Amino acid sequence: TSPFKTVTVLGLGVLGAQIALQTAAHGVEVVAYDVDEAALEAGRGRLEAFARAAASEVADGDAYRAAPGRIRLTADLADAVGAADLVIEAVPEQLELKRDVWARVGDAAPEATVFATNSSSLLPSAIADATGRPDRFLALHFANRIWAQNTAEIMGHPGTDSEVADRVEAFAGAIGMVPIRLHREQPGYVLNSLLIPLLSAAAELLIKGVATPETIDATWRTATGAPSGPFQIYDVVGLRTAYAIASADPRAAAWAAYLKEHYLDKGKFGVESGEGFYTY
Ligand code: NAD
Repeated sequence: TSPFKTVTVLGLGVLGAQIALQTAAHGVEVVAYDVDEAALEAGRGRLEAFARAAASEVADGDAYRAAPGRIRLTADLADAVGAADLVIEAVPEQLELKRDVWARVGDAAPEATVFATNSSSLLPSAIADATGRPDRFLALHFANRIWAQNTAEIMGHPGTDSEVADRVEAFAGAIGMVPIRLHREQPGYVLNSLLIPLLSAAAELLIKGVATPETIDATWRTATGAPSGPFQIYDVVGLRTAYAIASADPRAAAWAAYLKEHYLDKGKFGVESGEGFYTY
């Protein structure tokens, strides 16, 4: 059972809605906060859509179907965090925005409340002091399609109380996640520290003309026993996301151009569009 009775999720976007849903589906009381009524309305739509998607993919769909109705929505921050045992933040990936939100939450939440950020690329040590309680702050990082890709990476900064991390780890297990505990800060956590070099190396082999995506994938699957190769993973991640990441990195300019010319400009976005490196 969850060591936290009431959990507040900040930001009802793609990840926040999934975190709220997953938590509510496992019997924990959930409050969700977003900036205004319009954002809450959009969040409500996401909760319903993710509930339908999860219910159709898991064995016990009823818990997900019932979950949106069990989540209390509010645009009042003090109301949202006033009775929270754990606050999980999933607001946009901007350092100053996150620090500002955490400073306000730090003022409004009870002293004992534990704070977690779902940030993908910002280290908890860059945010911790803004919370006013760095010892009770850490990262709890979920993956998109949380009900299926159910890793929860738990990563403190040097000042995080390890007992707090223990409780967050127990919470992650209680809501159906596989907890991945990190013992020190690492940009990209465990998963992306492994995955990004693999995907980059695959891209390089392709644009250098060394081998086809099929050959590269078959090599990885056959030699390691992994169920999918890097280009199958690219198709699942989505080629728009791959392009956005490549475009932001000057060293990946050739890869970004390749993706645009051969895939994006032809409407091939991966699994979501029915075609990417493979046809679905
Ligand atoms: P998103 O843009 O879909 O959602 C952000 C939400 O935050 C929106 O609903 C927005 O209205 C709300 N928001 C904006 N300002 C706010 C404020 N001041 N207070 C409260 N809410 C506010 O973003 P997302 O993809 O859900 O990402 C959120 C976080 O989760 C980021 O830190 C991101 O790195 C992380 N993350 C994303 C993914 C992913 O695949 N999308 C995966 C893992 C982690």
